[in-house]
Amino acid sequence: MKSMRYVILRDDDTNALTPPECLDRLYRPFLERGLPINLSVIPEVRTEVRMPDGRLEGFLMARTGSEPATLPMAESPGLLAYLGANAGYHVLQHGCYHDYFEFERTDRRELARRVEHGARRLQEAGLGRPRTFVAPYDRLSRDSMAVVADKFDVVSTGWFELGRMPCAWWPQYAMRKLRQQPHWQVGESHLLSHPGCLLSYQRPVETMLESIRRTTRKQMVTVLVTHWWEYFINDTPDEAFIKVLHQTAEYLAGESDIRVVSFDDVADGRVPLS
Ligand SMILES: [Zn+2]
Repeated sequence: MKSMRYVILRDDDTNALTPPECLDRLYRPFLERGLPINLSVIPEVRTEVRMPDGRLEGFLMARTGSEPATLPMAESPGLLAYLGANAGYHVLQHGCYHDYFEFERTDRRELARRVEHGARRLQEAGLGRPRTFVAPYDRLSRDSMAVVADKFDVVSTGWFELGRMPCAWWPQYAMRKLRQQPHWQVGESHLLSHPGCLLSYQRPVETMLESIRRTTRKQMVTVLVTHWWEYFINDTPDEAFIKVLHQTAEYLAGESDIRVVSFDDVADGRVPLS
């Protein structure tokens, strides 16, 4: 009997300015097949976030310029109604304001404040208290790793490096390195890495599905990361890229030994991490 493999789809950067029709265009085939989608939601987006080159962040594509400096999720009733109507979406906390490298900071008091403020904003919006944390840009300092592991059941990030791990974790870290485990656990915290954004507009569409197939075959648990706004650059749907995403849904649903799960399943111990 083939052993079961697990895939977790994580879509980052949903915020109060995300048009629900964009999410629906992307994820209708997943919802129809009962495949869960983990949305990493920015609780109170900063509407002026810029990258180092001065360009506005892509997830602000629907911004008009007349918005206040920050916009909590509760200000977006259309999006909330859409999420509420589709039980396939699972909400994760994606930082607080999504400032540039927001969780690279080291002031634990400020880190804890941002975590709590963000969690409160999601709860106010009726999205419940998230059990999974995703740092903006997948960047966590050693201090933020300690703070979020304390408050969440699951932390999803790109990779783990010793210099960013709390010292008390080093023995488990060494063990995990030795066993070459992509995912691991410290106390009650489930720590999941991902193999880079396989569904990215920076990769050739021709080879995307094959690399997803290869990775999900190789690993027992794969976190697939993507960003909804990358499919709609310049307000134009990227049909070829959307097609690959939809083929991914078809592939995942069609494999009898693949189960598509949520981070909540991981938090509940329903997914063997190693
Ligand atoms: Zn992000």
